[in-house]
Amino acid sequence: MANLKRDALIKSLSMEGITDNRVLEAIGNVPRDQFVPITYRSHAYDDNALPIQCKQTISQPYIVANMTQHLFKNINYPDPKILEIGTGSGYQTAILRQLTKSIYTIERIEQLYLQAKQLLTKLHYTNIHFHYGDGNLGWPQAAPFDGIIVTAATPDIPTALLEQLNEDHGRMVIPIGATENQNLVVITRVGDEYQQEVIEQVRFVPLKSGVE
Ligand code: SAH
Repeated sequence: MANLKRDALIKSLSMEGITDNRVLEAIGNVPRDQFVPITYRSHAYDDNALPIQCKQTISQPYIVANMTQHLFKNINYPDPKILEIGTGSGYQTAILRQLTKSIYTIERIEQLYLQAKQLLTKLHYTNIHFHYGDGNLGWPQAAPFDGIIVTAATPDIPTALLEQLNEDHGRMVIPIGATENQNLVVITRVGDEYQQEVIEQVRFVPLKSGVE
């Protein structure tokens, strides 16, 4: 049943403009039903965001797929190093891990950090580096990153993240805005130049400071 629903989801994503087969395959390989609270399990393959613990959300599959597609666009070498800010349920982390071996992910809520780590380990995901901390600071010891994906919205792009992007076409996908509606933006770094491209309007929970 879950497989049939997953196939239907993939079909609808491909009709909505998700054309990168690596991304569609990843959506097909990750059991989203494991990442949502039990009460929402029958809706796991609907193309909607759903509530998770600690008043956070698991992102809508279309948004996960589109952000991943933009993150990996023009990256044709194996195993780029990716930093994710906002581990949350760990679903986006699992999708990213299908496309590369080198994942670093940061979560500021301890309960979510612990749960996601436990779940992804149970599902036999390896080579994921988890960190409980404030993602605004990035992960300087592991920088530079070929890609950075931020799954919480902020009016100001954290400087540390800009600095930790690979100078040679590193890409960051980030929702920018102060209000409920934000612009999903792709930033590409070449040397000290940063180019910005707006992709679409999105609605994410806020990027906060510190930990809880
Ligand atoms: N990719 C996740 C999205 C979860 S919602 C998923 O699909 O499940 C966004 C997450 O970002 C929340 O878990 C929230 O706690 C986290 N977050 C917010 N601000 C953060 C920060 N400064 N550093 C790290 N994580 C942060």
